[in-house]
Parts: sequence; structure tokens; C-alpha cells
Amino acid sequence: MGRRGINRRQFIGKTAAGVFSAGLGIPLLKGNSFSQNAAEEIPTRTLGRTNLQIPILSFGVMNSDSPDLIRKAIDIGIKHLDTASAYLRGNSEMSIGKTLDEDKLRDKVYLATKMRFARDNDKNTFLESGPAREPLATKENFQKQLETSLQRLRTDHVDILYLHSCYSSEMVTYEPMMEALVNAKKEGKTRFIGTSTHSNEPEVIRATVDAGIYDVVLTAQSVTLDKKEDIKKAIAYAASKDIGVVAMKTHGGVRRNREADPGIDHKSAFKWVLSDENICTTIPGMTTFEQLDFNFNVVKNYALTASEEMAVRQASSIQNPLYCQNCRSCISSCPKGVEIPSLMRAYMYAEGYGNLLQAEMTAEVLPEEKGLKTCEECSTCSASCQYGIKIYERLQALFAQGLTRT
Ligand code: SF4
Ligand code: SF4
Repeated sequence: MGRRGINRRQFIGKTAAGVFSAGLGIPLLKGNSFSQNAAEEIPTRTLGRTNLQIPILSFGVMNSDSPDLIRKAIDIGIKHLDTASAYLRGNSEMSIGKTLDEDKLRDKVYLATKMRFARDNDKNTFLESGPAREPLATKENFQKQLETSLQRLRTDHVDILYLHSCYSSEMVTYEPMMEALVNAKKEGKTRFIGTSTHSNEPEVIRATVDAGIYDVVLTAQSVTLDKKEDIKKAIAYAASKDIGVVAMKTHGGVRRNREADPGIDHKSAFKWVLSDENICTTIPGMTTFEQLDFNFNVVKNYALTASEEMAVRQASSIQNPLYCQNCRSCISSCPKGVEIPSLMRAYMYAEGYGNLLQAEMTAEVLPEEKGLKTCEECSTCSASCQYGIKIYERLQALFAQGLTRT
């Protein structure tokens, strides 16, 4: 495959500047809709057996390192901040920690973070030994990563600690990770534990419930997901067993994309997720005051109107969605068994969120034989997506953005 215009160093520089400058000096919106009583306007639900009372709008701080936005979110009544050790190479946790510490806001929020470890994609579980580009899934590495996260967050505990990005029941019940999570809870380094998933969600949600140690599950849910009804049933199962449910990827697709917008009405899509009372709260990623304003307005009155229900039905039937379903069925169509779903996620970060740093991190942790380097050396792409996603074009877009292993 022929490719790209900037080298790795230029790319990192460009990326870091792009992402981080997004958080500097963002002006307050003129005429935004936050009233003096904003904090009372967001409905609140209970997060399962944790009994935490959380407004239905929380803050996914994945792409933002803006102290002003975090402050404003807390000011208008958002009580739950969600991050991960891997987001923005630790800068998301650092930014949250600095803001909460300097403004003495730690006791005003529930903090959630996630620990991510190497996985064996052929066996659909974690990897405890052997070569890997992510920390091996051992109790020692778990402890190290948790200490690093707590230092960055400037706190002695988080409220929810997730096992990051599980896509099989084997990952959810992986003994060393379960033991590490339970220990972290016993030691008071987290109040509650859970799993997060954006692939094979119904299986992961059910396994999380049945494992018997978890308090919370964080799942993708969206009108554009083919399996949304199965996810909904699994969410209902979790709620019936008093496991708290948090939803992500709620807006039905990406906001910015070089591809044609297929006409997803983000307001209706978001309302559709909020209407499921088994979901306690949602964590849309926000990087601007406009997005905060938009989401705040939606959650104040989330009942779907007749025309919005129509928009939801339309979004549900969109062919060739921008959003990869993460079904993993394309892997068998690549002769090299490349980890295509992760590369499609990298594409979503790069093209949809404008977060090249996260895109690179997503691609670079893959073993070389499963990543972009292998695609780069491949003369013809035979991989195909059952939903019509143009895999080859998206790989080309990643190369054009400067992503590669070399
Ligand atoms: S690219 Fe298509 S086939 Fe592959 S995981 Fe995504 S939706 Fe499934
Ligand atoms: S270019 Fe396509 S067929 Fe070739 S390795 Fe990559 S995904 Fe597989």
C-alpha cells in the first residue's frame, strides 16, 4: 500500500498539540442554557448495589484535558467522571487529578478509571506471559498500574475500577485480574469494581453479573448497534441482579467524519439510550462547552417525541454505518488475521473524534503481525465487513494520518 505524508515524530508532535490545545482557553458559550439551578435539573438514578446516586449525564473524559470543562461540568451538577489509564497517555487522569486537587473538588465527584492489559486475540482472553506491547495481565502489573493511576488522579482511591475493554466471558473471569480487582477493593483503593465492554457486549455483561464479584458494568449501547436489543436484554438482566449499568457510545455515531454523515440524529439517539431506565448513567465524551450544553439540554427532558422515534427507527436501519459494530467477523477474511476491529476503532478515534493520539495508541499496542505494519506490507486487501464498512479505505485513511509501526 502506498502512503503518507508525515513521519512518526511529526505525527506525535502534531497530535499532542492538536489534542491538548483543544483544552486551552475555551470560551464560555454565549447564551448557554446553564441556569443557577442547573445542578438540580439533571435527573438522577441509582447505580445498582453501589447505591451511588448519579445524574444520568456523566462525563467521559477520554478526549479532554480541559480543566475549565471539567470545572464547568461539576458546576452544573455532573458528579461522575470516567477516564482510563490509557487515555491520552495518562494525560486524561493527570488533568482530572490536577483540577480536582487544585479546586478541592475530589469529594464532589465519583471517579472511575480503567486498567488495560495485554490480550491474546486468538484465544480471546488476557495474556499473562510472552511478548506483548501492553503490560502483561499479572497481579503485579495490575498493582503497578493502579498506583500510577492513583498518583495521576491525586487521590488515595477511585470510586469505580474497571477491567478495561473485555470482549469475552473468559476475560471477565480471568483469575489473576479478578483477584487483583478484589484485592484493590479490600485495600480501599477502589470502592467498587466492574468491567467495560464495547465488543460482544451481551456475553460480557452476563458474565460480569454471573462472576459474582462485580458491582458495575460499563457497556456500549447505541441505536446504530445491530445487537442493541440483545444488549438491552443483558442490561435488564444486570439490573435485575442489582449490578449498576453505565452506558457509553450513546450518540449513535461519530460527530466529525470525512465520510458522508448518514443522517444520525444525535439528540434522538442519545434520548433512546436514556429512555432505558435500567441504565443508571451515560458517559458521552465531551471536549467543548457546546457538547456539554447539548447533552445537558437533552438529559433535562429525554422523552422521545413522535418525530424523534421516527429518527431512531431511521438510524436503526442505516446501512454501512460509520460506527464499527465490533463483531470481529472480518478477522477471518484477512489471510493474516489482522486485528481489524481495533484498527477500525483507531479510525473512529482519528476521523470521528479527531483524537490522533488515542488512534495511535490503539494501533500501536497490537502485536506487529496483527497490526498496521502487516497491512502496510500487504499488496491486496481481501478483508470484508458484513456491514459494508470499507476496511481498505479506512486503513488508507490511517496511513494518511501518519499511523504506522515503522
Ligand atoms: S469492520 Fe465490520 S465485520 Fe469487522 S468488526 Fe467492524 S463491523 Fe464487524
Ligand atoms: S490489508 Fe487487508 S487483507 Fe491485508 S493484512 Fe491488512 S486487513 Fe488483512
